[in-house]
Amino acid sequence: MTASTPSSTASQASRAYDLALEVIGAVEPRVAEATRQELADQRSSLKLIASENYASPAVLLTMGTWFSDKYAEGTVGHRFYAGCQNVDTVEALAAEHARELFGAEYAYAQPHSGIDANLVAFWSILAHRVEAPALEKLGAKNVNELTEADWESLRHDLGNQRLLGMSLDAGGHLTHGFRPNISGKMFHQQQYGTDPATGLLDYDVVAAKAREFKPLVLVAGYSAYPRRVDFAKMREIADEVGATLMVDMAHFAGLVAGKVFTGDEDPVPHAHIVTTTTHKSLRGPRGGLVLATEEYAPSVDRGCPMVLGGPLSHVMAAKAVALAEARQPEFRTYAQDVADNAKSLAEGFLTRDATLVTGGTDNHIVLLDVSSFGLTGRQAESALLEAGVVTNRNSVPSDANGAWYTSGIRFGTPALTTRGFGATEFDRVAELVVEVLRNTEPTTTSKGEPSKASYKLADGVADRVRAASAEMLDKNPLYPGLELS
Ligand SMILES: *Cc1c(COP(=O)(O)O)cnc(C)c1O
Repeated sequence: MTASTPSSTASQASRAYDLALEVIGAVEPRVAEATRQELADQRSSLKLIASENYASPAVLLTMGTWFSDKYAEGTVGHRFYAGCQNVDTVEALAAEHARELFGAEYAYAQPHSGIDANLVAFWSILAHRVEAPALEKLGAKNVNELTEADWESLRHDLGNQRLLGMSLDAGGHLTHGFRPNISGKMFHQQQYGTDPATGLLDYDVVAAKAREFKPLVLVAGYSAYPRRVDFAKMREIADEVGATLMVDMAHFAGLVAGKVFTGDEDPVPHAHIVTTTTHKSLRGPRGGLVLATEEYAPSVDRGCPMVLGGPLSHVMAAKAVALAEARQPEFRTYAQDVADNAKSLAEGFLTRDATLVTGGTDNHIVLLDVSSFGLTGRQAESALLEAGVVTNRNSVPSDANGAWYTSGIRFGTPALTTRGFGATEFDRVAELVVEVLRNTEPTTTSKGEPSKASYKLADGVADRVRAASAEMLDKNPLYPGLELS
């Protein structure tokens, strides 16, 4: 439901939620109450968390059905359970919309989340590039036919492959080979960062690392990098060293779907495998998706039950609805607005002398370095929350405060753009954020040193910022017309 949603849809959604909450409240009233309160809270705060959005009532309502009760391990038409004909319908629809929307050869709609989609991708690459050739060489159909010695040798090979991904503090994701994560343990891993002076990716450095390390998997994609990536270049690097290019577009899938990222910036024509979430800029239900070339499709299909638990059929149905929405022309306007609004937010910070990682943005993320305000990310995040501005702290490249306290705040425009915020509102958001940060001071510890966690926000600032936000939020309501009784 957006600004252009007919009011009849809004009143239908109001009735649907009123009745649903009545049914829920009859069993556990506290859950119904928390659900109402969550809507009130989301409506009254400035949500700038870059990974969040607001899905439409159609998407949300699709998740609350009896599809949840069905087991459907396997794939469309090949299930380990009887009676999956309707699950087949919705899973096939989700996959079809995904293929059409992204121009992908193959789509797998089962992953429960972005991380699950990455695990499916990793195992499918290992199955396709390591296991399948080994079985073929040994003349075996599957691993059950191997002798103990051949099996041990294959297991050794599967556990000794290399992965090169973007480091966490440069904006990569935990699952891109961060050592403590399973991706950093199942693979020998190395990481590429960004240029210390500019904060930008340096493709020559990535290429040099790839030549030296010779990874089986090259991962591109990010959670906190405020710039576009040239995936054609990434593919060239992967081809030169014989790596599979896996792109994790969890954060920016909406900008790909909305054709803001095209040509070399669109990962789908360049990568062997693309993974994503469906709930971030794509504005669907909480879930994941894998897109693959025909070559990788059979190994991706083994995701469930080899890597994933049984598919969430109700969520796959909601993915189909969300992807149908993303194929509408309005979604392209939305995606362009998301990118334009990020520029306004960045400009708003820069004109007020704030420091941005990479000096700006050309996607949906703005990464503010708060050390110039004398604060850690932790303090800035808490002070902003006190003033009703919801963000998350984030490392900046070579962060002096480490991954827990950090020196950055990550902002994203997808959620408030869904509410209808435009350039003027995002400039005002920058002004309010700067007002909070300028009026926040670290408190001193008992040893007289500045604390990394506690802070003091000057009196009156939180109320002033909340009032100014409320004005913008009231003008751009979340789910306009949706009224709970
Ligand atoms: C958010 C994110 C994920 C994880 O998604 P979940 O749905 O939380 O599992 C994976 N990769 C990237 C790049 C992300 O930004």
